[in-house]
Amino acid sequence: MTTVRVRFAPSPTGYLHVGGLRTALYNFLFARHHKGVLVLRIEDTDRSRYVPGAVENLIRTLKWTGITYDEGPDIGGPYGPYIQSQRLELYREHAGKLVEMNRAYYCFCTPDRLENMRREQMARKQPPKYDGTCRRLSPREVQQKLQEKVPHVIRLKMPLEGETRFEDMIRGEVAFQNALIDDQILVKSDGYPTYHLANVVDDHYMKITHVIRGEEWLPSVPKHLQIYRAFGWEVPRMAHLPLLLNPDRSKLSKRQGDVAVEDYMAKGYLPEALINFVALLGWNPGTEQEIFSLKELIERFRLERVNKAGAVFDVQKLNWMNGVYIRRLSEDRLVEFLTPFLEKKGYDVSDRERTRKIILAVYKGIDKGEDIAEAARIFFQENVEITEPEARELLKKETSYTVIKVFYEKLHSLDRLDVDIFKQVMKEVQTETGIRKQDLWMPIRIALTGVTHGPELPYVIEIFGLEKVKSFVRQILEKVYREQGRP
Ligand code: GLU
Repeated sequence: MTTVRVRFAPSPTGYLHVGGLRTALYNFLFARHHKGVLVLRIEDTDRSRYVPGAVENLIRTLKWTGITYDEGPDIGGPYGPYIQSQRLELYREHAGKLVEMNRAYYCFCTPDRLENMRREQMARKQPPKYDGTCRRLSPREVQQKLQEKVPHVIRLKMPLEGETRFEDMIRGEVAFQNALIDDQILVKSDGYPTYHLANVVDDHYMKITHVIRGEEWLPSVPKHLQIYRAFGWEVPRMAHLPLLLNPDRSKLSKRQGDVAVEDYMAKGYLPEALINFVALLGWNPGTEQEIFSLKELIERFRLERVNKAGAVFDVQKLNWMNGVYIRRLSEDRLVEFLTPFLEKKGYDVSDRERTRKIILAVYKGIDKGEDIAEAARIFFQENVEITEPEARELLKKETSYTVIKVFYEKLHSLDRLDVDIFKQVMKEVQTETGIRKQDLWMPIRIALTGVTHGPELPYVIEIFGLEKVKSFVRQILEKVYREQGRP
């Protein structure tokens, strides 16, 4: 049996798209499941889209996700170089061979002419397609134009009739009418190959056995098959992954949310969670299980279980899943992971013991790293703000005023405050006022945190200490109750 060899072949656009991450992941899982090889190949032949630093960024982002590859630009391998702009000679040679074999031809049409042609076709409601003018040039005419150095491209000579069929591992048999397929440009006028030529040549020489990529590449297959056949090369097996969709089922777009893996990284999603989530975009294990470790994914992943239908990218679900992963972190990892988000917000985290306590007090309520800033806000501010309408309403109750006033008086006889003393004080307030349960606890919670939900009060007390507790309660009495005309 031959070894499985797959590749992730991104064009370096400056960031890793979540769709690209899914392609990388499925290739990775397939390779690891079959004890095969994953190649990282950089497809950078479109010079107009060159972005400096994009390759380095891509490699850094992949590292963060935990997707490892076995051959690639930064680690080498037997079939390198793995960057297409370093393989131009190979493509040039193969383009030349295709012309010699009469499977491709020189095209001298000017951009103006092509543009007019396209416009006319559109006006006639025909699909835009090269009209084949240069396909019919005689060898002498071609020679002459080449000698005169007329700018040109090289185009693939698609058969004018018949069908191209192939078996996709996800979609089953797929058929295309050859007559509808354009004579694809293989080499541009700047001498660079297009994706189509470079991709096929590389998949062949890198001994790729399975091509796993997004559905948007499906229409390219018949063109690619022409090239494979012309050279008599074996065609890899193909698997085209379903589109990623917005919740309204339109194609996943920036306008409706983040599409760059780097954005998720910056917002405090954990790589394990993002990988778990992305794994389920199109693949399903056939059970109800939703939380998978990478090891489990490798064991369970099958291309046969990838759906044809588009997969909705549901950020709510990702948030839920990320929360699950956050709550599974060890205390040390939690602190290490979340501290930078507090720092970024400008909060003073220099007292590491205090920062740790704050994080442990609030992390249960967050979905992603950046949420910690809001969850921990009360610990870093000098004033209570009551913005929640429900909290404002609750403070208006007669019992709330009584509880807060008596609690405040009791604070004055204390010289320190910890959880046990706090509980004792609350017991006294209860006995004295006869107010119990929610009516007893909620006003204190609101006075200290400004909201009706949040970390457990004992945590708050311990981290605040006596002075801050006093100051916050005083503020409530002064600000809120004075406003209400109370003494
Ligand atoms: N360079 C293409 C991309 O950006 C690769 C497509 C393929 O895998 O063939 O997605």
